[in-house]
Amino acid sequence: MRRCFLLLVDGLRPDVAERALAAGELPELARMTATGGTTRAITVFPSTTSVAYLPFLTGSTPGRCNIPSIRWLDRRAYGGRWWAEREQVRSYCGYQAGRLDGDIAPEVRTIFQLVPESTAIFTMISRGLTPERDPSQRERWLWGALAHYAQWHQPSDETVSRYLLRAADGPWRFVFAQFPAVDGYTHQSHPEAPKVMRALRAVDGTVGRLRARLAERGELEDTLLILVSDHGAAPIVAHLDLPEWFRSHGVTTMSHPVIWERDPKAAVMVAGNCSAMVYARPNERRRERWPLERLRRPDAFGVAHDVVDELAREPAVAFVAGADGEGGVAVMAAAGEARLSARDGVISYRPLTADPLEVGGALSGTPEEWLARTWDGPYPDAAVNLLDQFRSHRSGDLIVVAREGYDFRRRFEVPEHRSGHGSLVRSHMQTPLWSNQPVPAGPVRTVDVFPAMLSWLGVPVPEGIDATGAWLPEPRRAQAGAPA
Ligand SMILES: [Zn+2]
Repeated sequence: MRRCFLLLVDGLRPDVAERALAAGELPELARMTATGGTTRAITVFPSTTSVAYLPFLTGSTPGRCNIPSIRWLDRRAYGGRWWAEREQVRSYCGYQAGRLDGDIAPEVRTIFQLVPESTAIFTMISRGLTPERDPSQRERWLWGALAHYAQWHQPSDETVSRYLLRAADGPWRFVFAQFPAVDGYTHQSHPEAPKVMRALRAVDGTVGRLRARLAERGELEDTLLILVSDHGAAPIVAHLDLPEWFRSHGVTTMSHPVIWERDPKAAVMVAGNCSAMVYARPNERRRERWPLERLRRPDAFGVAHDVVDELAREPAVAFVAGADGEGGVAVMAAAGEARLSARDGVISYRPLTADPLEVGGALSGTPEEWLARTWDGPYPDAAVNLLDQFRSHRSGDLIVVAREGYDFRRRFEVPEHRSGHGSLVRSHMQTPLWSNQPVPAGPVRTVDVFPAMLSWLGVPVPEGIDATGAWLPEPRRAQAGAPA
């Protein structure tokens, strides 16, 4: 029986993992990748937990899934009655976490729906799973809450390891396991802190036990093992509390966790915490998002000046993005503006007065060409991801992207985040893709892992997904170099 294990080490940076591998600190992962390989995969925007799981589990981007972020507001349905209409305002970080499955666009199918013999451990996306196939759900809630307040994450990973090894002995063809400790310890300190490395070495030990278990069962050759992460991270040197920033500029602003605000002129939804979506006039139902030009008018946010221009000039802000009114995206930084548009499968980027995406000039190309050109640049795959954000009617009028070293939240963050993610910068967007089967030579997207897993399992890959099939491990390769 052919099997697949997807091991997601939340928040693991590829460079950190590669250095540890090269230094011999990860002997089990070295053995695992000896028959396969290591490469890097570019995640989606916002580069944050749960949203960035979607590509692996659905083969689709946040825009197609209609889950543009971990917090959003439905501008078509929300009319300002904050209690009666609280269902139109979402935050998956609190009591609404369970709403994520139902919020995913109905036509999108998860791997759990496509592979009935699948199970998941510590997953935040569980559409298609029965309670018995999501056995650790209660412990995830318990350890998650405890880890948040006690800053104590290792017990969560130990629970995951226990369930994972149990799953290896079960009838499951697909097993998804999420290890939260690396992300938890990274937020407390930095992406290569001793506690982070200890958590990573513990994952290495778990991989060793998993491989031994599979070898005992005679299944190692027929099992696709993949180690990935949903996003990277970078140290935060300064916080710019974005809701407070709007308030200090005279804009009445609603934001989580207490969304009540009398007559707000802006809603600010922070993710990860290095990006945010801003909705103008959240109390007024609107079918369409306002273009950037409209947002720059003094009356948009109820004050007498151009708030968007001021925001783009903040040192914490890399750039902001809004609709251009012609079906494309306007990108604006302190230095000036550029336009993004997509037509017939070609994405065109046109600097008008500046090059905020730091591509080096005008660029037109397919999404594949964009990936090849920008995967190691300052903002990997940013054009593809910004256009994707505007596919969802739930995303904001304005997307605010932090410069590396800054985040957008201070007031309610206990404990304080010393590292963060959620932005489009390289340190947040690059992730490791390691496998016991050959990986592509060049970079791929995290979304490309989905068809790779399905084809390994012999399950037809659904139509209408965002994955390109850049990585399809051939069944015959399973036997390469292995005794028949
Ligand atoms: Zn995180």
